[in-house]
Parts: sequence; structure tokens; C-alpha cells
Amino acid sequence: MFTPEAGLFFALWSLPVSLKKYLLAPGPVPVPPNVLNAMAAPMIHHRSPDFVELFKGVKEDLKYLYQTTNPVLILASTGTGAMEGAVTNFLSPGDKAIFVNGGKFGERWGKILSAYGMQTVEIKVEWGRSVDLNDVKAALDANPDAKAVYVQASETSTGAAHDVQGIAALTRNRDTLCVVDAITAMGVTNVPMDEWGLDVVVSGSQKGYMLPPGLAFVGVSDKAWAFNERSTCPRFYFNFAKEKKALEGDQTAFTPAVSLIVGLREVLNMVKAEGIQNVFARHERLANATREGLKAAGLEIFPTGTPSTAVTAVVAPDGIDGQDIYKTLRTKYGVTAAGGQDHLKGKVFRIAQLGYADTFDTIIAVAAVEMAISTLGGKVNMGAGVKRAQELLVVK
Ligand SMILES: *Cc1c(COP(=O)(O)O)cnc(C)c1O
Repeated sequence: MFTPEAGLFFALWSLPVSLKKYLLAPGPVPVPPNVLNAMAAPMIHHRSPDFVELFKGVKEDLKYLYQTTNPVLILASTGTGAMEGAVTNFLSPGDKAIFVNGGKFGERWGKILSAYGMQTVEIKVEWGRSVDLNDVKAALDANPDAKAVYVQASETSTGAAHDVQGIAALTRNRDTLCVVDAITAMGVTNVPMDEWGLDVVVSGSQKGYMLPPGLAFVGVSDKAWAFNERSTCPRFYFNFAKEKKALEGDQTAFTPAVSLIVGLREVLNMVKAEGIQNVFARHERLANATREGLKAAGLEIFPTGTPSTAVTAVVAPDGIDGQDIYKTLRTKYGVTAAGGQDHLKGKVFRIAQLGYADTFDTIIAVAAVEMAISTLGGKVNMGAGVKRAQELLVVK
């Protein structure tokens, strides 16, 4: 007899098994268990001695990560808030600014600049390529009144990196700032702010910092602070001079995201223990194994420029939609990667090796991509990618 209990049994039995989940997207990224635990501690008051002690340490260690002697501002916002502040705190309405548009995030610089009434000079870069330094030099020569060059160190939407060191060398002896969105570069790859002469460097917590979203960071050079004094752009919440002053007293201008700063304390301890050069080398090793592994599996890496160390953009094989690969990874294998954006939608999918990532995250990524393409009936050298990645990651 068909009882209601039996009906329930069959209903449950026919549900897909719940998959173990792996977060391999270019942000947000997995948060290490010790960091999650630290953030679960009871709230502390931000104007208390406990907070001040915590903040003093965090403030110093951020300089280590940024490789700068200047203070690094800590904002309660996502990365885009800090990008907006990197426009409003250094320019005045009507100012001219050059921006490198080689993807979704480069395009965002242009949108922010326009929103505040700046005159923009766009250097359009084909998606997947890295900006040509000759083009930057030509734009600077043609626009000697340009107040800044806005660029990404790693263009997350295309998986290509730009040579921000080379750009800073061009702006260094001009009255022009080099403003870098290092959101998927900081804590991933070497961007020594002072050594390279970068003027404003923006980063965000849910990328290389192994933290949840909600914190953004801004390093500001002396040259940029001089621009700040002359800037007349309207601003209120993102007031960098006010934040700098607060930072001197081990505070933020407004209520800080206390729990995230507790997590940041933990993350910076991890980074210091590993050593930043080792952190960069680990990401480089994983990125290289991901690319070489996927190539051995028969896939093509999308960027033709310098590949980003944080995220690998992969071309969807002929006849297979990139969105289907990304969806299959998630629904059949529990792996959250990312699809393509705008005109790359369906053409590429992206997989990150960012933050709390190590050898077996890369093995999972390569194995899952091979299997997802196989699920979709695509051509793939199953196992060849994993083998190649293993060979590259084996500890000698
Ligand atoms: C994620 C990302 C951003 C945007 O950051 P939000 O935190 O979403 O505001 C900007 N630039 C790059 C390069 C990114 O990867």
C-alpha cells in the first residue's frame, strides 16, 4: 500500500545528493577555519583599548603586505568603494584622467571617472591582452595635463595582468599619479608599492585576503597626498584625509567592520608566518599548474597577454557553452567557479587560485574541469590535465 510515509521516502530519495562544496571563484574566496573562529568572538567596542591594541598591529602589518612605509587606509566597503575614493580624493571635477580599459574592471574606472565629471582618455585594450606600455606613453605624451592613469594590476574579468611597474615608471617623473586596482593582486603577486612608485593602490578583503567581503584598503604615496590637498571633488564617507587622521589615533573615521578586522589580524599573522615572497611563490606555482594542467587536458587559456596569477580564464571548447561548464561544475561537482562577463559570456569560464588555496585546490580545479567537460560530451584528455598539474606540484 502506498502510504504518505512511502511518498515522502520516494520524494527524498529522488532528490540529488547534496554535494560537498568547493569555492574556487575569483572572490569571494574560502575563509580559513582559524579566521572564521576568530571572527566569532564576542564583539568588542571600537573605541576601547582592546580595539586600539588590535588595530595598531593590523595597521603596521598592512604596510608589510603593501610593502610601503606610508599608512594603508582601512575602509568598511567593498573594493569599488575604495576605487571611487581613489577618484574623488585626488582629482577635481573637469580634471583629465587616463584609464586602461581591458575588461569589466577597467571599464569601471571609466564609469567612476565620468560619474564625477572627469574628462577621460581611454586606452582600449582588447580583452585578454595586457596594455602596451607604448600606448600608455603615447597617451601621456598627448595629454601632459592628465592628472592620473587608472589601471588594474590583474583584470579579473579576462584573467590578464597589466604591467603596473612599467606604467609607474612612466608617471613617476610627471605630474601624474599611477592609480592601481590591485584587488586580485594584493596578497597574490608582488606589487611592492614604494619600490615601484605606485601612488594609490586599492585592494579588497574577499580576494587575496582570505576574508569575507566588506573591507577595502588603500595605500597612498606622498605624491598622491599632495594631489589630495588640491582636490575639490565632493566627498563625504570616503574622505581619505579624514581616514588618515583617524588612523594616526588607531581608529577609523566611522565605525569599523570590527569582526572583519579581527579576522584581518588572523590573516596577517598567517601571511607573516608564511612570508609574503612565499605567498607569491605559492600562487605562482598554483597558477602555473592550473594553466599547464588545463592545456594538457586539451583546453586553451584565454588571455594572450600576461596571465593573472589570481584567476585563470579558460576558453570553452568548440560546441560547448562556457556558462554550461560553469553551471555543471557547480551543480554536478560542487565546484563554484565563474563564468565569462559581457561579450565573453559563454566563451570563457574562470577558475581562481586566490588566497586560501593550495596544491589540492588546483588538483580539484583541473580534475573537475576535465570531468565537467566530459559530462557535457566535450572533447577532453581526461586525466592528462591532473597528471600534468601533479607533476608540476610534486614536492621535490
Ligand atoms: C572584485 C574586483 C573589484 C570589485 O570589487 P567589489 O568588492 O565587488 O566592489 C574591482 N576590481 C577587481 C580587479 C576585482 O577583481
